[in-house]
Amino acid sequence: MLVGPDDVAARAAIPPALLFPAPGRPKGYSLLPYDERGHCPMLEAGRCSIYAARPATCRTYDCRVFAAAGEQPDGGRQPAIATQATRWRFDHPTEEDGAAHDAVRAAARFLRDHGRELPEAAVADHPAARAVAAVALHDLFVSGSPTVGEVAVALSERRRPPG
Ligand code: SF4
Repeated sequence: MLVGPDDVAARAAIPPALLFPAPGRPKGYSLLPYDERGHCPMLEAGRCSIYAARPATCRTYDCRVFAAAGEQPDGGRQPAIATQATRWRFDHPTEEDGAAHDAVRAAARFLRDHGRELPEAAVADHPAARAVAAVALHDLFVSGSPTVGEVAVALSERRRPPG
C-alpha cells in the first residue's frame, strides 16, 4: 500500500516501523507492505483499524467494490487485493440496504452478460471496471430491469464531467 507524503493522518496512525521507502517513487513516498498472511497490517478483525485516517490510495481504490458486486479481482496480477476482497462481509441493517446490495449484484450480472453490447468496453473485460460501474449504476436496478440502451446512457452520463 502506497502512503504519500501528503498522507499526514495516515502517517500519524501507522507505526513508523511498518513504513518503508517506496521503490521507484520520489523521496517522501512510503510503502506499507502486506504481512506474511497477505494482509494489510492495519487490518484488524476484518476491519481497517485506521479507517478514518487511511491513506489516499485506500480512499480511491476500495477493494470492497469487488465483494459488493460479486466480482473476483485478477488473483494472478493482484493477489493481495484478491485475498482481501474475499474477506469482506456486509451487514444490511435495513431492507433498503439489502435491496441496494441486491441491485449492485444485479448490475454486475447485467454488465457481465451485456458488457460487449455497451460502448464502455472496459466493463466487459475488467472486473474492477465492472464492479465500480455496478456500484455507480445500481440505482437503475433497485426497482427495474433497464435495457442495454438505458444502461449505456447512464454510463455515459456518469462519465461526463460535472458543469
Ligand atoms: S483501508 Fe485496507 S489497505 Fe488501507 S490501511 Fe485500511 S486495512 Fe490497510
